[in-house]
Amino acid sequence: MTGDGAGGNVFAGTLAELTWHEVDRAARSGAVLLWAFGVIEQHGPHLPGGTDVYIPVARLRTVQGLLAERGVDALIAPPYYWGINVVSGAFPASYNVRPELMREVMVDLLAGMARDGFRHVFCFSGHGDALHNRTIHEGIRAACERTDADASFVTEPALARRIGLDLDDPYLTLCGPDEPPPDGPPDVHAGRWETSLMMHLHPELVREEVRAGLEPSGTGQHELAIWRKGHEHARRVTPDGYLGDPAAAGADQGRRIHAAAAEHAAYAIESRLRRSPSAYPHPGRRNNG
Ligand SMILES: [Zn+2]
Repeated sequence: MTGDGAGGNVFAGTLAELTWHEVDRAARSGAVLLWAFGVIEQHGPHLPGGTDVYIPVARLRTVQGLLAERGVDALIAPPYYWGINVVSGAFPASYNVRPELMREVMVDLLAGMARDGFRHVFCFSGHGDALHNRTIHEGIRAACERTDADASFVTEPALARRIGLDLDDPYLTLCGPDEPPPDGPPDVHAGRWETSLMMHLHPELVREEVRAGLEPSGTGQHELAIWRKGHEHARRVTPDGYLGDPAAAGADQGRRIHAAAAEHAAYAIESRLRRSPSAYPHPGRRNNG
């Protein structure tokens, strides 16, 4: 047993395991959908390429339970995992689609979810790449403007700012505290926090004997800015593919990070549903009137 991680099965607990009758019944009774957008991307010499899929899918399973305690029914969509890799684009095992393709796939699928009658789709990102996250927002906006979809992007204020969005953007459901990044060297990719989460959720997928011997990447804010330019810049700054301190990670830290992130998300979702009449009146119908 791996607790919140449910083994390596990313379909576990999602609507891919349900019959159409079960999905139909949930949609008609007013359930919302939770949907994770990850990517297949290198995560250093110690974590699997699906890290940005495993982590948000596990988070959604916990969010679903927290929402149920608050009287909100939610189903989980199977994760989206062909995303956008600028930063890791020059590494093996890191696959990229054009943003306009991802956006259009989102429009079609969100339209289908609206047709089923789901009253709101809460989209999450598992991947920090700026263009990936701009595209999630763009896909949501396009779907809401062009179809019956009603959806939003559940994200922290810091990420919303980093990708150039106003915090009062109607397609955002902001979650978590609005605080500056912690002091100390940046830890943003396959480092301490992400490795801790994987040690909690999927210890069987962490190359522990490699992880324990990794040196901190030693990258400061200057290198981080170069790294964010992506492709060969990122590969030069972090030749082994991680930016942070994976040897300092631990399963207990991962458990705490996971629990806090799920709690913030459930709170943000419940708050939006309370505030937003358009998410309530009738499954799948936006209040355009
Ligand atoms: Zn990642």
